[in-house]
Parts: sequence; C-alpha cells; structure tokens
Amino acid sequence: MNVTFFNTKQYDQQFFEQVNADDAHGHALRFLDVPLNAHTAVLAKGADAVCVFVNDRVDAEVLQHLAHAGVRLLALRCAGFNNVDLGAAASLSMPVVRVPAYSPYAVAEHALALILTLNRKTHRAYNRVREGNFALTGLMGFDLHGRTVGLIGLGTIGLVAARILKGFGCRVLGYDVKNNAEAGEIGVEFVDLDTLYAQADIISLHCPLTPQTHHLINEAAIAKMKPGMMLINTSRGAIIDTKAVIEGLKNERIKYLGLDVYEEEGDLFFEDCSDKVIQDDVFMRLLSFNNVLITGHQAFFTSDALHNIAQITLQNISDFEQGRALTNAVPAPAAAR
Ligand code: NAD
Repeated sequence: MNVTFFNTKQYDQQFFEQVNADDAHGHALRFLDVPLNAHTAVLAKGADAVCVFVNDRVDAEVLQHLAHAGVRLLALRCAGFNNVDLGAAASLSMPVVRVPAYSPYAVAEHALALILTLNRKTHRAYNRVREGNFALTGLMGFDLHGRTVGLIGLGTIGLVAARILKGFGCRVLGYDVKNNAEAGEIGVEFVDLDTLYAQADIISLHCPLTPQTHHLINEAAIAKMKPGMMLINTSRGAIIDTKAVIEGLKNERIKYLGLDVYEEEGDLFFEDCSDKVIQDDVFMRLLSFNNVLITGHQAFFTSDALHNIAQITLQNISDFEQGRALTNAVPAPAAAR
C-alpha cells in the first residue's frame, strides 16, 4: 500500500523503514514532516493509508479531504485516539487503527522518573554540582517507601506503574471505571475518587482523555487533595485544568507537579522552539515554579517502544490490505454505528 506519514521525525523514518524491510511488508512509505490539518491533507493524494501521531487533529473536515484524496485507512502510530473524529471516520467508512500497547513500561517508567526526580530534586542537584555548589539546602526529599500513591486508570500502563510502586514499598490506591482483577492480585486497593484524593501523597494519571476525563483534575478535585501532594500526568494534557493546577501550586496544596503532556502542547512539543518567544503565558507560568518538572511528551520514547509502534502499525496496514480482521481497530462511537 502507499502510505503517507504526517508529522514525522528522522527517528520515525528510521524505525518504520527498518521494520517495513525486516518484516517484508513491502509498503511504499512516504514521510512528511508537516502536521496533518485541513491545509496539508491534500498532500495525501495518491496514498491508500495515512499515518498520524498524537497532535495531528483529524477532525471531520480533514477526514473529508483525506477521503476525497482517495485515502481508505487512518493508521494512528499511538495508543490514544482523542484527536480523531471517530463518528466522521465511520460515516466515511474509513477504519481507524491504532497501537493499543507498544510499551507500557516506557510510559510507566517515565512516570516513576518524574516522581523520583521531583522528590529527590536530581534536576537541581545536577546543575548545582556542575557549578561546584555542594550545599544540600533545598534538596531534601522523602522516602517513597510507605507513601500512598493513587493511580487514576488501571489499564495497561497503570498496572505496570502499580507493580513498580509496589516494588518501592508504596501503598497503591486505584480508581478505574472498570473493575480489574489483576490490579487486586498485585495488591492495589480499589477506592472511589474522593478517597483517592484524600489519602494519596502522590497521584498519577493513567486514564485516556475522554469527555468524562476532560479537566477531571479541576479546582474542586484539587481542593479534596492532601496538602503538599505530588501530581503526575503522563496521559493527556487536558485531563488537567492547567489554570486550576497553577492555583494549587500557588496555595501549595500541590507541592510537586510532573507533566509529560500539556493541554496546549500541539503548538510546542516535538519542535525546537529555543529561538522563538513562547507566546503561551500559562505554560511559561508553569515553567517559573522550581517544583514543576515538564518533559515534552517523551514518556513513550524508547527504542523498544518505537520498534513496537512501527511493527504493529505496519501489521495493521497489511491486515487492512489483505482483508484480514482489524484487531486494533478503534470502535466507532455508538451513534455512528
Ligand atoms: P488502557 O486503555 O490500557 O487503560 C486506560 C484505563 O483507563 C482503562 O482501564 C480504562 O477503564 C480507564 N478509564 C477510562 N475512563 C476512565 C475514567 N473516567 N476514570 C478512570 N479510569 C478510566 O490505556 P493505556 O495503554 O494504559 O494508556 C493510558 C493513557 O496513557 C492513554 O490513553 C494515553 O492517553 C496515554 N499515553 C501517553 C503516552 C506518552 O508518551 N505520554 C504514551 C502512551 C499512552
């Protein structure tokens, strides 16, 4: 199949070309660095499938343009699908496939990296030592052992995070809309959200962005949290109401904030903006706190994950080409079925 990739970097090309050859898929791959939107969709002309990433906005207008250009399949090279109008895709009979799990370890381990860095302030210690400053004032942390961690979302990534945290000797509370027997087996205590907010020293988000989880962490939720808590988001930016979180940082109910995702990240992340004036005042306010650690949506970014993403995405495309069942299809919303 002819596959046009939007929003690619050199590393995407490297992994996809390698797997396309190694697994003998034989697809013709075309890599574009521009994001997919209503203006760039025309570049898909001649493609049977289009492959996009987390910040490509695939709304009804874009899907119309793609269908018009002859595209028959939308392949997401990520797990989340909050950026796609699934109803519009269904009405155009365009299947949407994704990579449901490529390395839950990559994301869960990054969440732990944020927790450990914020706690032990290794980002500040690194700079101090390089300047010959060996003073410890301001670097005091706490033992993770014995602390209570609340996980919101106990799917693939949440479960890996739970196992790691259990290894540290933490008490792990979990909230999910679905019951998960495996979580119980590894010692996660199922609680309601209010209990999780009230008892957790650290809260880590591992649920998808949906209309139900949009701004789940808002002013009312933060008011229920333990003063001095740590909040970690490696899931999707808009699960957090950023302005409410800034207030929580100012009144010190939130004492540490670790973000790998940000609600307006589409204009910033994955690009080198170091020569530009960043116009997003909310983001710049976040950067002004020394107890806020932000990474640019890199939780997934391990060689293992990139290899798996390429393998599963190309398999999804081959399944479509050969008329096999699409095991990784994103179901259309009920109204569109
Ligand atoms: P998953 O589908 O395996 O698990 C998600 C869990 O969230 C499920 O158990 C589901 O029941 C639960 N859930 C759904 N709605 C909920 C709600 N309202 N409240 C509480 N729980 C709810 O997904 P996963 O593979 O564990 O990934 C989780 C999220 O992580 C993805 O949706 C994606 O947004 C994000 N992610 C981020 C990166 C990154 O690089 N930062 C990489 C991969 C995934």
